[in-house]
Amino acid sequence: MNENLQDLYQDIILSHNKRPRNEGELDPHTGKAEGYNPLCGDKVTVFVNEQDGRIEAVKFIGEGCAISRASASIMTTLLAGLTVKEAQARAQKFYDMLTSTEEPDLDFLEEGEVAALVGVRQFPARIKCATLAWHALEDALGGAG
Ligand code: ZN
Repeated sequence: MNENLQDLYQDIILSHNKRPRNEGELDPHTGKAEGYNPLCGDKVTVFVNEQDGRIEAVKFIGEGCAISRASASIMTTLLAGLTVKEAQARAQKFYDMLTSTEEPDLDFLEEGEVAALVGVRQFPARIKCATLAWHALEDALGGAG
């Protein structure tokens, strides 16, 4: 990865950590789930509101490291309008990006800011930070809470 791209990714993560999008409780919501990453101490609560099988809104409350908060914030910007299935597929794509053994072939325009999290691949201990909100999202889409 070239240095300019790495700087850009770093800026995106810091910006989302400092000014998260869609942070706070979502009311009303149809699903809610919590996640905790004991390795790092990150906590997240994800709220979703589904209407006729589509995601209307996603919000989160999170405390923890910059990666966990930025990942949750970026996630909330990607999901409005998707069906539950599409959101699950999006989550799977994200996990694959972080854990595949091959260097992912990323199209930044297609992936958007989520591509900024690809650097986490180099730090396996932090992958749980990046995926925490996404796992909570999948639990929330299950309709629990
Ligand atoms: Zn963390």
